[in-house]
Amino acid sequence: MTHQGTATTRGDSSHIKIIGVVGAGQMGNGIAHVAAMSGFTVKLVDISEAALAKGMGAIGKNLDRQVSRGKITEADKAAALARITTGSDYKLFADCDLVVEAATENEVVKKQIFSQVCPFLKPEALLASNTSSISITRLGAATDRPGRFMGMHFMNPVPVMALVELIRGIATAEDTFAIVRDLVARMGKISVSAEDFPAFIVNRILLPMINEAVYTLYEGVGSVESIDNAMKLGANHPMGPLELADFIGLDVCLSIMQVLYEGLADSKYRPCPLLVKYVEAGWLGRKSGRGFYDYSGEKPLPTR
Ligand code: NAD
Repeated sequence: MTHQGTATTRGDSSHIKIIGVVGAGQMGNGIAHVAAMSGFTVKLVDISEAALAKGMGAIGKNLDRQVSRGKITEADKAAALARITTGSDYKLFADCDLVVEAATENEVVKKQIFSQVCPFLKPEALLASNTSSISITRLGAATDRPGRFMGMHFMNPVPVMALVELIRGIATAEDTFAIVRDLVARMGKISVSAEDFPAFIVNRILLPMINEAVYTLYEGVGSVESIDNAMKLGANHPMGPLELADFIGLDVCLSIMQVLYEGLADSKYRPCPLLVKYVEAGWLGRKSGRGFYDYSGEKPLPTR
């Protein structure tokens, strides 16, 4: 093992002023929100105009919530929104100092994005992926700048969660890592360093727990409500594992389990057949209106 999380280079990210974000989904819009609130100029690109409109709507709503809680002022909100430009053309990234990719969790899609984005980037621009589970070394190899590429794994919801996992690929230069670590601090977040193993630290531990909760439901050990209450009241978790799975998205949960199962070749990571069935049914959790809970009414109702 080459790195133990103690980098030697002290990074200075003060030259980073313009940040590009690929994907305006729940993570991409959160990253754009936090970057804009931290004073950066933000270029947010998505292939779908509808996703951009929805993403900007989410940023507006989340900023409103911060205003109503007295955390920021109306003027802060207006200034942050004015710093964000949206579009569907990667040309927007031509003046970016860093681009963070937060598109769909699919290796083919991400590699295709890098091949399309790289020709527009300044040679010295840094590139990062917010992937939850795909190898940073493999993704970096699909870019024209593996030394200036790394993993920057934000947590959901980005404006609320303090952590960003930083992952070096085998080719990531030490100053790339140090600059991004400094930048994360400027964004008001706390970073931990993780090696490039499937699912890194948080999801390596969290997703097998969620998968086990689905097995617990599948085997009839407890109902949705019993399982979530048991973990909330018995383990002091702020959310039950099934509620959390719905929040993350069951398709995202399944794809992370598949990456763990295949990447570590250990049967203990076998995705629960019930999780597979829910995804096949299009029951993806909150985002599709139904998962382990039904979200069509006023209050989420357990479905089992
Ligand atoms: P999402 O489905 O909400 O958003 C993905 C967005 O990417 C969509 O708006 C889609 O239109 C867009 N997109 C797809 N192909 C594109 C392309 N070629 N160019 C530009 N945009 C494209 O997904 P998400 O939950 O925001 O996840 C995004 C990334 O963040 C994934 O890699 C995921 O693993 C990671 N992540 C997710 C979570 C989570 O809890 N959901 C947490 C941490 C990291």
